[in-house]
Amino acid sequence: MDTQIWTLYLCFWLAVLGAVLGSFLDCAVSRWAEGRPPFRGRSRCGACGRVLGAGDLIPVFSFLLRRGRCRYCGERIPADCLAAELAGALALACAGRRFGFTPELGQWLAAAVLLLALSLADGFRRVLPDRLLVLLAANRAAWFFILGQGVREALDAAAACAVPAALLALVLLFERLSGRELMGGGDIKLLFVLALYLDWAELLLALLAACLLGLAWAALAGKRRGAAVPFGPFLAAGAMTAVCFGGPVLNWYFGLF
Ligand SMILES: [Zn+2]
Repeated sequence: MDTQIWTLYLCFWLAVLGAVLGSFLDCAVSRWAEGRPPFRGRSRCGACGRVLGAGDLIPVFSFLLRRGRCRYCGERIPADCLAAELAGALALACAGRRFGFTPELGQWLAAAVLLLALSLADGFRRVLPDRLLVLLAANRAAWFFILGQGVREALDAAAACAVPAALLALVLLFERLSGRELMGGGDIKLLFVLALYLDWAELLLALLAACLLGLAWAALAGKRRGAAVPFGPFLAAGAMTAVCFGGPVLNWYFGLF
């Protein structure tokens, strides 16, 4: 019982932290996408340019309180702000529930934040920046070698690379035969980095979850969004889902044999 209350407490504060970080990342990445310095200057309304006060910058609540509109000019606030805040809150809270107060939680929080930044960059600009991918890989490498998790996990990671390698071969073959681009190069690179984090079964589950989430999104958003939906955010969400909730699913599946 005690540990449950602790976990709830941890998840609550991680959700708050995640919402704040989501808000911050959304702002930084949207500035980067417009070619402005990401970390400089006060937050302003995108429509009227008024500098926003502290009361306008409380994640989620400000948006709901003002019904998604700017307090000064009444213009709609882009929904990606709210989406990034909710995604950040959800990702960090789920990691907290999965890992509890352990050293592993630290690296997964960092991974979740980087995945959110990658998703936003893919959403705004349809690219997964190499710098963020390298940071994501470095975060995992630090876990292997600095924290001494050692050779066995590193070998598992190398084995999991077989999944993106096989997928890459399939994609290249398909693209060769059909002359159409199927999957962005960034998505494949992200898969290779995720292979450092997930074993091969988790990685396949992440891919499956990503495809299901992508299909659900396409069904919900309909055709008004156009054909090109970035896959990065779904891959990131699929990976977090596989890590935080995949254990029981995989146990059930492998129990069938
Ligand atoms: Zn405004």
